[in-house]
Amino acid sequence: MIRLIDLTKTYRGFAAVDGIDLEIPRGRVFGFLGPNGAGKTTTIRMMAGILKPTRGRIELDGIDLADNPSEAKSRVGFIPDRPFIYEKLTGMEFLQFMAGLYRVDHGVPPVDRALELLHLFELTEWRNELIESYSHGMKQRLVMCSALLPAPRILVVDEPMVGLDPKAARLVKDIFREQAVSGTTVFMSTHSLEVAQEVCEEIAIIQSGKIIARGTPEQLGEQAGVDGTLENAFLKITKERMSLP
Ligand code: ATP
Repeated sequence: MIRLIDLTKTYRGFAAVDGIDLEIPRGRVFGFLGPNGAGKTTTIRMMAGILKPTRGRIELDGIDLADNPSEAKSRVGFIPDRPFIYEKLTGMEFLQFMAGLYRVDHGVPPVDRALELLHLFELTEWRNELIESYSHGMKQRLVMCSALLPAPRILVVDEPMVGLDPKAARLVKDIFREQAVSGTTVFMSTHSLEVAQEVCEEIAIIQSGKIIARGTPEQLGEQAGVDGTLENAFLKITKERMSLP
């Protein structure tokens, strides 16, 4: 479960994120949508503990991130939009290194867990190759393996589908769904409304740092008074908002 309470980040008086309240139960794929500059990455960076909120609180799996950062972060797998990977390692070495950092010890030896994830993300045959020889999509999938190493209760993902070919995108969507079915909360920002419609059980739309709508894709359609795709609903909701004084 994720709780954001009055979450706010200001930069010299400008509110990039402006008093967000969200409660997301476990076992759900939750989509976080919004136009460019809406505050998605800023929110996600605060949830990952990289940025300090100006105001408000973040609870991850019931643990307050500010009061107990290492305990809260241990519950979260974070997949940034532009991950840093040390490319002179092989995929397997990278995962072993990350397992050491996370101190993975869930009864499954770290090497077995890494092999299991490499298999899941269809990287097994590349495991002993240097990461610098990987394509962008392969690096993305390797970062996803590393985020899942500690079997997190919460997965926070910034723009997961960028650079993935259709087969890899299908694979990742299926894995996110399976993670949710097994009780993980997946919090995902994306610009792909098709992906959100397909994968997310629930969606929040952020604009100018505020949550302006929340619901299932169908509920957002009803709220916007449009039939059909999430794209129609998103465009109507964000446009209406922009035209407000
Ligand atoms: P995009 O979809 O374009 O990636 P986003 O929804 O992720 O956008 P953010 O990156 O969170 O948006 O940015 C929200 C707002 O905060 C933007 O107006 C951005 O210019 C501003 N902002 C972000 N980081 C900083 C910073 N370090 N200093 C000042 N302003 C910032």
